[in-house]
Amino acid sequence: MQIVSPNVPGPREDHRVADAFGRPLRNLRISVTDRCNLRCQYCMPEEEYVWLPRGDILHFEEVSALVDVFAELGVEKVRLTGGEPLLRRGLPSLVRMLAGKPPIRDLAMTTNGVLLAEHAQALYEAGLHRVTVSLDTLRPARFRALTRRDSHQRVLDGIEATVRAGFKGLKLDTVVMRGINDDELVDLIEYGKRVGAEVRFIEYMDVGGATLWSMDKVVSRTEIVERLAEHYGPVTPVVEESSAPADRFVLPDGTIFGIISSTTAPFCRSCDRSRLTADGMWYLCLYARAGTDLRGPLRRGASREEFRSLIIPRWQARTDRGAEERLGLDRRAPLVQIGELRKDPHLEMHTRGG
Ligand code: SAM
Ligand code: SF4
Ligand code: SF4
Repeated sequence: MQIVSPNVPGPREDHRVADAFGRPLRNLRISVTDRCNLRCQYCMPEEEYVWLPRGDILHFEEVSALVDVFAELGVEKVRLTGGEPLLRRGLPSLVRMLAGKPPIRDLAMTTNGVLLAEHAQALYEAGLHRVTVSLDTLRPARFRALTRRDSHQRVLDGIEATVRAGFKGLKLDTVVMRGINDDELVDLIEYGKRVGAEVRFIEYMDVGGATLWSMDKVVSRTEIVERLAEHYGPVTPVVEESSAPADRFVLPDGTIFGIISSTTAPFCRSCDRSRLTADGMWYLCLYARAGTDLRGPLRRGASREEFRSLIIPRWQARTDRGAEERLGLDRRAPLVQIGELRKDPHLEMHTRGG
């Protein structure tokens, strides 16, 4: 297969493209695989999944070529995700390609941490800037119940290896579910302090794939803050201008933590994120039903101009505010039913990249 790179952007001009609400195209999440080695209850609760055909998965050179196109249009932040990104063999090679692109000033990865101990050093040396590890519990038996796998210690080892490798700004993401792990908020903050990581609590979201979701399992931002204040004393918001999805707070001892309140207080108005799936579909919102195929044009050898005329008008017409629209519903239930997910795995969170 020949890859015609639409590459080689010239000196960086400000080509940033804004959508219908003035939100820039700045942030690209790249799912490098739809496969995963865990089965988190809030993401992949089913026994069986339909996987993307292997031949459709983009090669690293193809991902790199698309990142060049997006970088020219203003993307400067890239996050590698999945599925579990570390299941993708040779991931440090992709990191090296992307880290070598000057417009990409922030290159991060979200991982479940299971394979991190083996790869942290190589990823650091390849130029990855930041790592976020998902960690929902400190209790091995609970981890097993929540993920249907026995790899809790490997995740903790992975977190320590990340710090040892030299990564700064480590974040730990916790999806908080009522009756499952909402009694561990303080323990997780304390663990974060010990390893030097910032903990971010994520409200359980009714995204595609979350077929067990219900509103009564959501622990809201307000409740999380109240519970932490009961234990630690006053919790103060950190004032900052950012399109980042976490609201950050500070505890009386100076510890900072975040809350991603996509379910009860979404942040669509400042959302500059779009998503590329492992097979090259581009989505403008986590909740979008349809995306744009970029793999086809890439494999046909489309020029840079052709990509621009595919991407720019779509971003300019973007009116997506999926989470805010969900907020307006009277009765909320899982976003997509299981039959539909089987017909189109692109609707799954683990395909789209969280
Ligand atoms: N496998 C990697 C991991 O778990 O970190 C990366 C992909 S995962 C889809 C990315 C993030 O999505 C994780 O932090 C996970 O907790 C989050 N996520 C998945 N389903 C969710 C849901 N229903 N509500 C909130 N967050 C969810
Ligand atoms: Fe869990 Fe991430 Fe795998 Fe989803 S993709 S099941 S959140 S580890
Ligand atoms: Fe962005 Fe869509 Fe999430 Fe809103 S729901 S923050 S528009 S990805």
